[in-house]
Amino acid sequence: MQILIRCRTQFLGVFVLLLALPILAMAQEVALTFDDLPAHGALPPGMTRVELAKSIIATLKSANAPQVYGFFNAVRLEEVPQDRAVLEQWRAAGFLLGNHTYTHMSLTDNTVEAFEKDIAANEPILRSLMGNEDWHWFRYPFLWEGETLEKRNAVRAYLKEHGYRVAQVSLDFGDYAWNAPYARCLEKNDQKSIEWLKSSSWTPPSNTSSSTGRCRRCCSGETSST
Ligand SMILES: [Zn+2]
Repeated sequence: MQILIRCRTQFLGVFVLLLALPILAMAQEVALTFDDLPAHGALPPGMTRVELAKSIIATLKSANAPQVYGFFNAVRLEEVPQDRAVLEQWRAAGFLLGNHTYTHMSLTDNTVEAFEKDIAANEPILRSLMGNEDWHWFRYPFLWEGETLEKRNAVRAYLKEHGYRVAQVSLDFGDYAWNAPYARCLEKNDQKSIEWLKSSSWTPPSNTSSSTGRCRRCCSGETSST
């Protein structure tokens, strides 16, 4: 059985994942997946996406992480061309890349034709970065397969016809909720709140929604709940 673990944050999730890995890896085949490369969420002041990627890659390497996949949206390179270095470093580390559509398009909110076009639009950069490696892995943006059976079946057929395998998600973290408050706290140099954020990251899943709500308020100027 293969477990696919999804992560979206650029700060925290990797550490949570690495703590969980020794347990998961005992009897299972585990792959770590990162969505929305090369950029997701707020960027704290004084940092670049490339530096963050370097840090994540170094952490994964030092922990001997199992196979790592990154699902990217090439539209981000139109906005910040130098972030291509994030993807190049990812590949230089031996990690793989997969298709997450060009613009992170929702199939639920768009036609099948537009969605398939968005998949194809991501391929030239994907192909150039992956070289001889197989790049036919696909992750649906938002994990949404459309609001009708017809759309779901049409895109599944398209993916199959084009040789793609769909990367499902076995374990997912609400780690992305951590990004924005962390960036806000760092901007304000609010070390007390940063410490609280770090401790809250270990909150058990049953308390996730409560923790997420507090994260949103952290450093936002709203009154913090306790
Ligand atoms: Zn995504």
